[in-house]
Amino acid sequence: MSLWKKYYKYTSFLFGPGDKYHCNICNKSFRRFRSHGIIKRNNAKCPYCLSLERTRLLWFYLDKEVNITDKSWKILHVAPEEGLKNRLKKINSSHYFDIDINPTCAYIKMDLTDLRFQKNFFNLIICSHVLGHITNEGKALSEIFRVLDKSGIALIMTVLSERESTFENINIISRKERIQNFGEPDLVRLHGKDFPERLKLAGFKVEEIDYRINLGRDNCEIFSLGDGKRERIFKCSKR
Ligand SMILES: [Zn+2]
Repeated sequence: MSLWKKYYKYTSFLFGPGDKYHCNICNKSFRRFRSHGIIKRNNAKCPYCLSLERTRLLWFYLDKEVNITDKSWKILHVAPEEGLKNRLKKINSSHYFDIDINPTCAYIKMDLTDLRFQKNFFNLIICSHVLGHITNEGKALSEIFRVLDKSGIALIMTVLSERESTFENINIISRKERIQNFGEPDLVRLHGKDFPERLKLAGFKVEEIDYRINLGRDNCEIFSLGDGKRERIFKCSKR
């Protein structure tokens, strides 16, 4: 038995089988999802593919609203989520590029503030819960803008707070203080209601989408699609 099958057998023992919760990325059902986060969110993480609420919602959006099966599309996936990565690679692995500054987290080691791709190269860019971690957010956004095709879209997600303005302080470095200020130990900023304006400053046209509304309450429950603080999709384009 492969290691992966053993792992599934183990997770099935702990979390399933069941039909209360379903993961649309690995297409498996469970009695419950795993809890996740510094402040624990119940039923957040798929025990099999490890997808979180935001990634399951994003896959719904990609599957239903974006022409994701178009094999000609060039896709950039920043800090790739494993389950989503596997789904996207199956469509056309030769046009799929995943990057991360940590070489153990993606196939290509690359800094989002210094992309080694030519301008207008990608049709689709996925950058979920990355910008809050990057010291020079403006440079990262200008790089995303540069490599996005004129007819392409960048789907950007982040943690949204109730603040009017984004709070950032790169001098807060201790784990304890970061959790106190940003809610997570690796963040250097907590985005506020001005997040779309920050995206527009890079030149993007921005559409804010709460796709949970399209899917309805029952699906939000069954697929555990979060409360909207982490799951809002910002669809960015050049026109
Ligand atoms: Zn899953």
